Amino acid sequence: MTSSTPTPSQTHLAWREELTASLRFAQMAATDLPLDPEDRDRITAAQTHFPFLVPMDYAQLIDWQDPQDPLRQLLLPSAYEDEDQGALDTSGEALSTVVPGLQHKYDQTAVLIVTQACAGHCRYCFRRRLMSKDVMVKETIEDLQVAIAYIHAHPEIDNVLLSGGDPMVCSTQRLANLFAALANIPHLWQIRISTKLPAFLPSRFTTDPALLQVLAQYQDRFQIIVQCHFDHPHELTPAAEQALATLREVGCILTAQIPLMQGVNATVDVLEQLFKRLHRLGVLPQYLFHPRPVKHALHFQLPIVAGLQLVEAVRQRCNGSVKRFRYILTHTDGKLELVGLTPSPASQLIARWHQQRRGSHHPEILLWPLDTQMVWLPDPFPPKPC
Ligand code: SF4
Repeated sequence: MTSSTPTPSQTHLAWREELTASLRFAQMAATDLPLDPEDRDRITAAQTHFPFLVPMDYAQLIDWQDPQDPLRQLLLPSAYEDEDQGALDTSGEALSTVVPGLQHKYDQTAVLIVTQACAGHCRYCFRRRLMSKDVMVKETIEDLQVAIAYIHAHPEIDNVLLSGGDPMVCSTQRLANLFAALANIPHLWQIRISTKLPAFLPSRFTTDPALLQVLAQYQDRFQIIVQCHFDHPHELTPAAEQALATLREVGCILTAQIPLMQGVNATVDVLEQLFKRLHRLGVLPQYLFHPRPVKHALHFQLPIVAGLQLVEAVRQRCNGSVKRFRYILTHTDGKLELVGLTPSPASQLIARWHQQRRGSHHPEILLWPLDTQMVWLPDPFPPKPC
């Protein structure tokens, strides 16, 4: 940085003001939004287990009077949340936690849970346990030096994924400190940042020059990948497009990680449009995640077979570059790519291990007896491979 460069603490923090306004907005939403009394009651009831939270500008994208509006379904607590089935930790994150706030599931990757805060609360969130006032699970980093020492001692780790919550709600100073600490570990060459802020709070990237300077400053030291979480083309506003362009200008690589969700984006038209528009904005297709059996969020699930048919139809409409995304089921034992069905008459589901948890030794290809209503694979896994 030059002497004229503003330090993180000196920068204009319009995005922070927006975030604070969103929290106020969420508190008033139960009375101010055009909702039925039942919806208002659910917002109030959600306060303890997973509070309603929507960024203020993002709220303008939603038709609050239309129960079918995809972003409304993404953010508004629903009656289905009363269901108590499912799990709070669907992919064995506790098993992979090696020191507080650090998960080491795959050999090369360390995941740092740097915050439990987000700019908005997606009702299907697989980490909703972190934000629940009645569970109060503390899974974020307690002592950065302990986490850094662990990574230092594991030369097989070549990349760190900053996750949460949403790491980009952290102050720029905190992010700068994280980058500085990680830069001292010689075997790291890549930092990935998982974030929904290009959709939820694009001003995070366009009103804080110090953040851009931090990202630019470390381009020579790290490959920096911003894993962008989008759910629907309605989120691709001019402000979101500007945020993505800004991140590219400072040298970040952008990838798309899309959670497949019934009621939000599980149609061929929506997914086609979403992947294509993101690609044109320089956000490269990476993963489409099959919906997890998250407690209080089972209504977002769909059968694996229905998901495969959807993906096949989307791929038929996309060129080779756009259709590169993998359809992934994130299981306790690793990431399984859902590939397809055995040829007709279809009797088995074909999956392939994309990544296996450390210490797992499953055969690469997995065949599973076909059940058209099956929404998830059993856990622990597998009781008996075919
Ligand atoms: S932004 Fe990500 S971490 Fe935050 S609530 Fe949504 S899915 Fe969960």
